[in-house]
Amino acid sequence: MKEYKLDTLCVQAGYKPKTGESRIPSICQSTTFFYGDTQAMADCFDLKSNDYFYSRLANPTVAAFEGKVAALEGGVAAVGCASGMSAITLAAFTVAGAGDNIVCSQEVYGGTYNLFGVTLPKLGIECRFIDPDAPAEEIEKLIDGKTKMVYVETIANPAITVVDFDKFAAICRKAGVLLAVDNTLATPAFCRPKEFGANIVLHSSSKYLDGHAAALGGVIVDLGNFDFKGNPRYESFNTPDESYHGLVYADLPSAVFATKCRAQMIRDLGAIMSPQNAFLSYIGCDTLALRMAKHASNAAKIAEYLNAHPKIEWVRYPSLKDNKYHALAQKYLPDGQGGMMSFGIKGDVAQCAEFMESLQLITQETHVADVRSCVLHPASTTHRQLSKADLEKAGVPENLIRLSVGIENPDDLIADLEQALAKL
Ligand SMILES: *Cc1c(COP(=O)(O)O)cnc(C)c1O
Repeated sequence: MKEYKLDTLCVQAGYKPKTGESRIPSICQSTTFFYGDTQAMADCFDLKSNDYFYSRLANPTVAAFEGKVAALEGGVAAVGCASGMSAITLAAFTVAGAGDNIVCSQEVYGGTYNLFGVTLPKLGIECRFIDPDAPAEEIEKLIDGKTKMVYVETIANPAITVVDFDKFAAICRKAGVLLAVDNTLATPAFCRPKEFGANIVLHSSSKYLDGHAAALGGVIVDLGNFDFKGNPRYESFNTPDESYHGLVYADLPSAVFATKCRAQMIRDLGAIMSPQNAFLSYIGCDTLALRMAKHASNAAKIAEYLNAHPKIEWVRYPSLKDNKYHALAQKYLPDGQGGMMSFGIKGDVAQCAEFMESLQLITQETHVADVRSCVLHPASTTHRQLSKADLEKAGVPENLIRLSVGIENPDDLIADLEQALAKL
């Protein structure tokens, strides 16, 4: 399906019914699958056949969603996971074990920061955080023979920084190390990291892919453009897997990363997506291109409005000409920069709370990136344990408000912001 444009892939990719079958994937709510023939089942276990045998490893509804996201990202295979966090965990375990390290942007989702900074180190996997805007030489210094992946977010949540793909792709190519990109906030509607040198793409599909705040999920896309064969950094891909009859993953003709991820990590850790969530995420993707265009045009209008408002101190959104990431966004996200922004109110924590409580249409939520607009004030919620100084250090000043712009009419959203600001 690669010859089609993205909006076509959104509605057509991932599932093709045979005569008389349901037009959209049915929810295959079965843990297991029937076999009358021992050899046919043995072939499944040996990875000689792609038929389904147990839903912890693969399921037809999940496969439809995986196929759709793989097509949208231009990948060769995808693995659907229970959540974005499980996708990131499974991707890390596919490449890294005790003694290895990951080089990661410090501007990443809070859950990822904790996973890499606290939980993986307990298992002997070290994480080296970097300023994504640091010069290449500084980032290269952190890569050694034990570095198994470099990890960045296209548009960082919640910092709203835009990654310089050319810089990271050059670093990774030179070192022969995987570039993994969390593309959750950009989505393939605005950025396909493969075109800029990424090897693995990850999503929290709980956000824009589902798009309706209906289903938790995550997905790992194998872009099929990394040569593991003979690369000494990836010995676990080049030596026989004794838990899989001596299979050498690097020898597989395609989908090396996705196969190892599924055969080892999904098998051993579970955390696969449920058929129900795969179904919801699959139909969510049908409208991804339409929704993203609206999210981005609404967000650009609101960013302009807030930027000109006398009660607003600053606005962070890459469409704005004075934004630090404007040039990178023009280069990598020319068609839109998503629906997430942050801004600072001229005022303290109490005034931020007053503003938030005055909103009538836009609601307070921990979630982001679905059809309904929502706000969060980190200093009084997610980051409330931090002092004023620590908040500044974490890049979330006490007056920062995060706004996830939905697909409502932009005039209604601006009117709601206007009346709430007028009360301050
Ligand atoms: C939400 C989010 C995650 C985690 O996803 P869950 O589905 O909540 O587990 C990871 N990365 C980014 C960028 C996110 O926004």
